[in-house]
Amino acid sequence: MSTSEQKRLKCKLDPVYAEKQREYYRRYWGANHEKIRERQRRYQEANPEKIREQYRVSNLKCRHGISTSAYHDKLIAQAGRCSICKEAFRNQPNNPVVYGAGGDFDLLHPDCMQLISKLSPKWLVQYHAFMKKVATRATRVRCE
Ligand SMILES: [Zn+2]
Repeated sequence: MSTSEQKRLKCKLDPVYAEKQREYYRRYWGANHEKIRERQRRYQEANPEKIREQYRVSNLKCRHGISTSAYHDKLIAQAGRCSICKEAFRNQPNNPVVYGAGGDFDLLHPDCMQLISKLSPKWLVQYHAFMKKVATRATRVRCE
């Protein structure tokens, strides 16, 4: 067990120790926050791929409750294709997005996700009215 893991465990078990640690970090942050922020900024600029990957992993876990391996398993199960349009996923900026959470989710194109987000009953009524209106409309003007 690493030192940081030992500290984390001790904080969980001992609320007095946890409060002392929080107070220490609050004071440390107060005295050094500019230095810390500068170090973080330099790290982010030097490692954009790592930061993007950390964000992606964190986003999957926090927003959808999905591990990276579950995401990859689903990608394989869907044969690398969108659940709606069945077209293959290409690389960025067209990365698959997650619809659903936990064990029940699908991977979709961002555009397909946007499409289903518009499919409210109100939108469908408006779409139907629009299609009815334009169905009889001439789409081309004949030149004679
Ligand atoms: Zn799609």
